[in-house]
Amino acid sequence: GLRWGLIGASTIAREWMIEAIRGAAGEVGAVMSSDPERAQRFASENGIAIATTSLDALLGSGIDAVYISTTNEHHCSQTLAAAAAGKHVLCEKPLALNLPDARRMVAACKAAGVQMGTNHHLRNAATHRAIHAAIKAGHIGKPLFARVFHAVYLPPHLQGWRIERPEAGGGVVLDITVHDVDTLRFALDENPVAVTAMTSRGGMGQAGLEDGVMGVVRFENGLIAQFHDAFTTRYAVTGFEVHGEEGSLIGTDCMTQVPKGEVLLRTRDDERQLSTAHENLYLRAVRLFGDAVAARGAPSATGEDGIKSLSAALSTREAARTGREAPIDLTT
Ligand code: NDP
Repeated sequence: GLRWGLIGASTIAREWMIEAIRGAAGEVGAVMSSDPERAQRFASENGIAIATTSLDALLGSGIDAVYISTTNEHHCSQTLAAAAAGKHVLCEKPLALNLPDARRMVAACKAAGVQMGTNHHLRNAATHRAIHAAIKAGHIGKPLFARVFHAVYLPPHLQGWRIERPEAGGGVVLDITVHDVDTLRFALDENPVAVTAMTSRGGMGQAGLEDGVMGVVRFENGLIAQFHDAFTTRYAVTGFEVHGEEGSLIGTDCMTQVPKGEVLLRTRDDERQLSTAHENLYLRAVRLFGDAVAARGAPSATGEDGIKSLSAALSTREAARTGREAPIDLTT
């Protein structure tokens, strides 16, 4: 297994990724935080041998790969440093706050000959994999429409930089819309070309940050997809639907970190649940990343996938700001 260094003493690392790394036969060798006490506490609570505030010390601690889950404004510089040190990079979404930075990250990993992945966990969900396979098998004919329901409630322990700090990449679009677009790209095997959107503030977002958004994305094949993302929606159920000429796929309770949810296939003659062998999404992501490092395939979401989801999110914000449809730049 790989020996990992954690860049960022974050909630996602604590709640999901440490267990996923260990579950994939990897080792968590070191953790870096900007705060020495937090680094030390995080290390001792999670059984990590090395705690440091120095990126150089982390990169020099005998690790093979880094998992970056700091706030979003740090992802670029930390990825560039890791690549320069020859470490493989699994980076959180959004990759960066702008496209030139995201492209620089992918180019640096490529130049250094290291793997780069974006932690778009939903590609690893049994539900979305079943939807992807059903579309590919032709079960719904030509896909015409998609609908993404990803309005959730941001739990109190996460009500920090996401709703307070624009400069850290806060706001629901950079947090959640990136996942919607990546999941649509994965399920449909299509790229988005343009987006229109409106954002809202329902009481959580501060400093001008949106905490709700609805929009429509157009894909290369002409399909349009609607999305609804929010931090303020306590009682909604998430979902992901694709409606085709010959059938509909209705995923319920599937825009989540937890391995759960179901998918219904409805056609003229048939109405049945697709079988979904649920597996921890993050464990599968780490396992596939390890396979990619061993030259057996690609990460479930690559760096290029991260550029494209970021691009769609930035265009969503642009569309909401201007009130016009915004093109999505797919240049990687
Ligand atoms: P957190 O707020 O938990 O952590 C982000 C940073 O905040 C940490 O790196 C840490 O800095 C700092 N921090 C942590 N605790 C405290 C504290 N008590 N006081 C002050 N600062 C603190 O963020 P998340 O874990 O929610 O998100 C981190 C990244 O992961 C983001 O890029 C986010 O978009 C992404 N994410 C992805 C998910 C996915 O499923 N793919 C799910 C959730 C998040 P330091 O490291 O310097 O100590």
